[in-house]
Amino acid sequence: MKDYDAIVIGGGPAGISASRVFGKASPRINVALIRPEPHSMIYCVMPYVIQNTVSLEKTFKLDSLVTDNGVELIRDKVNKVDFVTREVWTEKGRYRFQKLLIATGANPALPLLPGIELPGVMTFKNEPDLVQLLEQVDNVKRAVVVGAGAIGVELAQALNVRGIKVHLVDIQDHILPSLVDRDMAMEAQELLASRGIKLRLNNRVVSLNGEDKVEKVILADGEDIGCDEGDRLLVIFSVGMKADISMFAGTELSLGRNGILVNARMETNIPGVYAAGDCAEYKSALTGHIIDGKLATNAVPMGKIAALNILGGKREYPGFYNGGATKVYNLRLGGTGFTEKLAAANGFDPVAGYGETTTRFPMIPGTGKLRVKLVVDRSTRRLIGGQVVGSEAVAERIDLLTFAMQTGSVVDQLEMLAYSAQPYQTFLPANNAIVMAAGGIMGHLGLWPNK
Ligand SMILES: Cc1cc2nc3c(=O)[nH]c(=O)nc-3n(C[C@H](O)[C@H](O)[C@H](O)COP(=O)(O)OP(=O)(O)OC[C@H]3O[C@@H](n4cnc5c(N)ncnc54)[C@H](O)[C@@H]3O)c2cc1C
Repeated sequence: MKDYDAIVIGGGPAGISASRVFGKASPRINVALIRPEPHSMIYCVMPYVIQNTVSLEKTFKLDSLVTDNGVELIRDKVNKVDFVTREVWTEKGRYRFQKLLIATGANPALPLLPGIELPGVMTFKNEPDLVQLLEQVDNVKRAVVVGAGAIGVELAQALNVRGIKVHLVDIQDHILPSLVDRDMAMEAQELLASRGIKLRLNNRVVSLNGEDKVEKVILADGEDIGCDEGDRLLVIFSVGMKADISMFAGTELSLGRNGILVNARMETNIPGVYAAGDCAEYKSALTGHIIDGKLATNAVPMGKIAALNILGGKREYPGFYNGGATKVYNLRLGGTGFTEKLAAANGFDPVAGYGETTTRFPMIPGTGKLRVKLVVDRSTRRLIGGQVVGSEAVAERIDLLTFAMQTGSVVDQLEMLAYSAQPYQTFLPANNAIVMAAGGIMGHLGLWPNK
């Protein structure tokens, strides 16, 4: 049996990010990363493969991202971890570890509904899902996408571009409910509807009917979505992720509702055993309470912190802000922190403000709209969320707002934000949408213009 200083289980963003840190360790330590799939994948780009914008192969990550860091890559599946003997049991062998990083990710959740097992009902996470969907898109006329989060919305557009009639179902009253509030989602919803995507909001799937394949989807309001005689129906669930931790059930490892429990150093309850990424459960940086944060942009820093601590560091992860972005045709939408609705649900007394400018100087060709919504906690005046919708890149503004939250900024500071201006890249020097939104909140709070 081979001995390692550290073993990483999982080759996703958390495992790869940890490998990058191990590659810089001095002195070098002996690390193996175990993952079963032939290639790690860039999941974020999968909808664009369905859309025919990107080839399947372009989603594959190079193994050298791991091996160039001096980390041994073992293509195998772990079946069991013995935390007493400190051994990992795989399908093909057994390995001993000093330290262990569990980065097994998460799998799509499938609700327990009548007919859920029927052929034609799918989820969308990995290469087999993508290949299966690619094989079917040309033979399908109608699809139901369940869940209007970023993945569901991107997938619905991709299927629509491929000429499929798409119904997008969500239990919430608007699309992208974790990213933006309803008022910021309306333009995107209108755009989806104008392209023929049927939005079924405030609704949910109650059953799936069919003999040897799914033929009908029944919604809570009584509507049934079926296909014409001889056609095939595709139903794709994109309703959240469940941590891939079933092999640890009944072991000494402490598990939460949707992930392995870790402290700020990404340590589990077992000394020398760490967990990072989608398989771990962690807290909001804004409230300190557990929230969902299954994003690659959270998995990467978690994997980095875990690896630094495995190497003897004392680094801590502050928690999730959940900054993210998506695209609805040519419209970009992004959000960070809490939406106004989720802020209230998380115990804040939120105050919101809006700013609107153009994306470039108004007279410059290609200019479009840019809308910002800020959410501030009334009592502390701290920024607790931000949303941006516009015709050009919004992610940088989202990152700026996340940084403002990371550094504890209050609305007064955002109202005095020092910004840049250039005809092709921003609105006129006279104003900035973030400053306008912050000014609006200062007004609501009776703090502007003359206090
Ligand atoms: C379609 C799609 C689009 C997305 N878009 C975005 C986006 O735009 N932005 C964003 O930030 N996030 C996005 N995400 C989420 C992001 O991909 C995940 O949060 C991220 O992949 C989590 O990384 P991870 O390393 O924790 O887990 P994963 O990437 O899930 O990797 C888990 C690894 O563990 C391995 N593993 C599991 N069990 C075992 C076992 N028993 N033995 C050995 N290995 C095992 C797996 O094979 C895999 O290699 C998207 C996800 C999907 C599905």
